[in-house]
Amino acid sequence: MKKILVTGGAGFLGSHLCEKLLNQGHTVICLDNFFTGREENIEHLRSNPSFQVIRHDVSLPLPEIKVDEIYNLACPASPPRYQLDPIQTMKTSVLGALNLLEMARLQNAKIFQASTSEVYGDPSVHPQPESYWGNVNTIGIRSCYDEGKRAAETLFFDYHRQHGVRIKVVRIFNTYGPRMDPNDGRVVSNFIIQALRGQDLSIYGDGSQTRSFCYVDDLIEGFIRFMNADDAITGPLNLGNPCEFTMLELTEKVLALTGTSSKLSFKPLPQDDPKQRQPDLTATKQQLDWQPTIELEEGLRHTIEYFRKHA
Ligand code: NAD
Ligand code: UDP
Repeated sequence: MKKILVTGGAGFLGSHLCEKLLNQGHTVICLDNFFTGREENIEHLRSNPSFQVIRHDVSLPLPEIKVDEIYNLACPASPPRYQLDPIQTMKTSVLGALNLLEMARLQNAKIFQASTSEVYGDPSVHPQPESYWGNVNTIGIRSCYDEGKRAAETLFFDYHRQHGVRIKVVRIFNTYGPRMDPNDGRVVSNFIIQALRGQDLSIYGDGSQTRSFCYVDDLIEGFIRFMNADDAITGPLNLGNPCEFTMLELTEKVLALTGTSSKLSFKPLPQDDPKQRQPDLTATKQQLDWQPTIELEEGLRHTIEYFRKHA
């Protein structure tokens, strides 16, 4: 059994990862500054003696902890949240990566980076393979996140080449599920909460932009499979669900599954909002033998059930 550090472990994805690793019998240390993470996400893990929580910011010098593996998930993921303090967002990605890579180097620990499909920016290649270098505005309002994640990827590969650090870099496409923060402004949680409250669903732009939504359980299974794969498999690898929907199609599904009579309300499209996004999973399937299994409707059902109880 291993000792595993999960940064951002109190967040949406991090809390699912901590839970799964604990269920597998590992010792898990969750390091989080609780900027977007929530105590309620990890409350049920607190009584497990193999679970430890450290309140700390990854952009600051790290406490001395001895670990075998590091999953670096620390970073706000929702656009309104990462745009609240863009300088801190950049510091979290870049200084956080540096601090954690140093820790990995000194301890010979394996390290996993939660990168993002945002490294492709507003993509002109569709679907996006890992070989596509992307189309990112370096000075826009999304850049603190996109460029921070891109710089972190660079650091991961330089630590790998220069110091032989064992790395795993995953590019995550839009993922949803229970424990998303109902107030963090992402589209799936917004639509479900609005539908459950009988409010209009807020569509940004004309709703023709697309995203491909992955259910959290599929994603976490992919994370662990990647971490346990041969050291030669460094990534970057795409993880996500290739089924692509427009935001208008998503409203139809949410309305049908919640059975509410909410209407649609069209709002301005935020600056630099990507028009389309769909993972090319060829390399991931080949190298990890992984593919998502949960369809959007099934995943939405579980998520709606969660929000009925928690929002
Ligand atoms: P989230 O906002 O729910 O979780 C992020 C966690 O990181 C929170 O617990 C937050 O408190 C913590 N955090 C933020 N800044 C920190 C700092 N400086 N020091 C320590 N902790 C800090 O988001 P999520 O959806 O769970 O995303 C987790 C990771 O996956 C992020 O790195 C995100 O960029 C990446 N990702 C997520 C998605 C998605 O669709 N959910 C897509 C692409 C990439
Ligand atoms: N979006 C929307 N209504 C909302 C929130 C988001 O139409 O209430 C749109 C947003 O403009 C984007 C898509 O949904 O085109 C996905 O947004 P999200 O913030 O979830 O993720 P990201 O833009 O980072 O992919």
